[in-house]
Amino acid sequence: MDKTILTIPGDLPGLSYSLTVLRFAGTDPTAPTAYLQAALHGNELPGVAALHVLIPKLKAAEAEGRLKGSITVVPFANPIGLNQFQWDDHQGRFFYGNRTNFNRAFALIDRPDPALLAVPDDASCDRRLKATLQGLALDADLVLDLHCDNEGPNYLYMPAELWPHSADLAAALDCAAVLTFEGGTDASFDEAAFRPHLASGNFERRVVATVELKGVHDVGPETARKDGEGIYRFLVGRGAIADPSAAPVGPFTGKGVPQSYVEMVRAPVGGMAFFHVKPGDVVKAGQLVAELIPVPGDVSAVAPVHAAAPGLVLTRVLARAIRVGDDLVKIVGDKRSATAKDGGALET
Ligand SMILES: [Zn+2]
Repeated sequence: MDKTILTIPGDLPGLSYSLTVLRFAGTDPTAPTAYLQAALHGNELPGVAALHVLIPKLKAAEAEGRLKGSITVVPFANPIGLNQFQWDDHQGRFFYGNRTNFNRAFALIDRPDPALLAVPDDASCDRRLKATLQGLALDADLVLDLHCDNEGPNYLYMPAELWPHSADLAAALDCAAVLTFEGGTDASFDEAAFRPHLASGNFERRVVATVELKGVHDVGPETARKDGEGIYRFLVGRGAIADPSAAPVGPFTGKGVPQSYVEMVRAPVGGMAFFHVKPGDVVKAGQLVAELIPVPGDVSAVAPVHAAAPGLVLTRVLARAIRVGDDLVKIVGDKRSATAKDGGALET
């Protein structure tokens, strides 16, 4: 394993950020290569936990000559967001410097040419970081960007072109759903990592996914082991690692649908939320999802929130103090949702 610490210059003299990159050298130049990163949103640690389990397995594979394809791992992909706190609250999603989501506004380039990722001298540090991450992922066949949601099971986002032949990743990680997107998602990392290869048309060998590993509090030895071993079995199945002892990946049994099938259930008023559903529940059209209580004690003011269509409750917000317009749950339906929009990511 080669460990490199890259420096991302900060926006003031004397300020810089360290990006640790781990490289594992494969022995077969024809085998698929992989790039894995975690915590692009700073404090989303389930992916870091999975890598904590995976990295020793990659070291062993490399040492034993079983690593076929080269693999690059960035355990903490966002040292800028990792260091953003507002008093005691971690704020890893948006760059304090310009309010841009760390997983949006990546450069969309149409071929895998590193020169196209060059940033101007006056680029801010978040843009430098994004260009660096894109460069590290540029030539990889298998690109996994490990995130997490608020509360929920494992699920994936990926370009529609890569579905369903990437179902092995979903199966290996025991995903409840795969949400595919056509066109843009506001230049999220997965969109930007896939775009340079779109013209090649060679999609069978390629996997690019945003991997949502449960909820932000699901960080612990059991989920880490399950997710880390799941990624390992996926890499073995793809031929990046040789390991006859690894259990083969079974069939994917979850839902694979366009992300436009997701109903984003939003709060019609602000208030305290009483939820009546949880991730994993299957709801009917019109079923009570939550009650929002703007005035404690005033039953007449309680605002019920219902599912517009039947589906699987995929995720639920962690907060119980809800602002008007906040996303409450995602429900995966069987057809295009009334809340679907044309293009763009599901969330800001
Ligand atoms: Zn995230």
